[in-house]
Amino acid sequence: MIKCPLCRYRAEFFLQDKKRAFYRCDQCGLVFANPQSHLMPAAQLQRYGRANKASKQKQLIQFIKPLLSQISAQQSGSLTGLNFGRVLDKASLDKIEHAGHRLYQYDPFVKANQQLFNQQYDFICCYRVLEHFQQPGKEWQLLSKLLKPGGWLAISTSLMTDLNHFSKWHFKNNPTHVSFYQQQTFEYLAQHSEFTLLFAAKELVLMQKTSKSDIKRILI
Ligand SMILES: [Zn+2]
Repeated sequence: MIKCPLCRYRAEFFLQDKKRAFYRCDQCGLVFANPQSHLMPAAQLQRYGRANKASKQKQLIQFIKPLLSQISAQQSGSLTGLNFGRVLDKASLDKIEHAGHRLYQYDPFVKANQQLFNQQYDFICCYRVLEHFQQPGKEWQLLSKLLKPGGWLAISTSLMTDLNHFSKWHFKNNPTHVSFYQQQTFEYLAQHSEFTLLFAAKELVLMQKTSKSDIKRILI
């Protein structure tokens, strides 16, 4: 029996393509590649290096900038964020700092600074990262721990909208993509951890960690 790496529920065999087998979890809706087909870190890094080009930098800043404006509109003052999984270049980082915010960066290959896990953040952004999580349950716990109550979590990943199209989906053919999510998966996570799901469509998921005052309201 194979367990879902996100919610630990029993997973079902879903599909076999030319290279890998995939499993599906009925509880959280995650589809994941057979763990035995995961690439070793060196092979992952090689693929990852190719993906870290200038065009990706542009997409990354286009993801982070509107996010910062949105959060600033809801929460005044300087924001401290964590860019989790993909490093922004110095010029873009300088612009963010010039606007009065602080953005720390964590990258498992290039900037794996574990000290960043000793504090909490107003927001965390994960651009094209969650599909690489081999242990999404463990990573989710970490992200949750790193956010302040009331903090924002912005995720960019390609959401599955129709499982019948999975076999033809090019996104699943990248061997470093191992975890695939549906809107249902984030609904499940919101229900089972301290989050509110604000938005989940196509490429963007926005969640907010429950603030202490909200928890009090629920308890009353
Ligand atoms: Zn699951």
